[in-house]
Amino acid sequence: MKEKILVSACLLGTPCRYDGKSKPKEAVIGLKEKYELIPVCPEVFGGLSTPRLPCEQKNGRVIRKDGEDQTAFYEKGARITLDLAKKHNCRIAILKEKSPSCSPHQRYDGSFSGKLVDGMGLTALILTENGISVFGEDEIDQI
Ligand code: SF4
Repeated sequence: MKEKILVSACLLGTPCRYDGKSKPKEAVIGLKEKYELIPVCPEVFGGLSTPRLPCEQKNGRVIRKDGEDQTAFYEKGARITLDLAKKHNCRIAILKEKSPSCSPHQRYDGSFSGKLVDGMGLTALILTENGISVFGEDEIDQI
């Protein structure tokens, strides 16, 4: 039986991004030869529609571009994603960089100016706190 790993659904070609598009990554899709891939989109799990206005983290909250606080949706999506990881005994997650939900390393700084800062997305953080190793889409050689 193949090991199961969580993967950001947009990296597998699901058009679930805020702009209604996907970000398919061939190297990630190719992992299906070795692993059973469990697609997750924490923002959709949290109840957000697609397309949607972009959000960025600021001062511990997740704020939509029009100023609305969307933190509750992001927290709900992170909890559902963690539950799914536990249900499938996933030890590893391959997640989309720069997302306020998924990003393992860097995210936008909350100014909607394209500036990046170090820091995880909400879902990446909760997965890490629960012992799941998270990697970005360009770190597949590390798993
Ligand atoms: Fe992709 Fe994650 Fe954003 Fe969903 S929340 S669109 S899976 S980066």
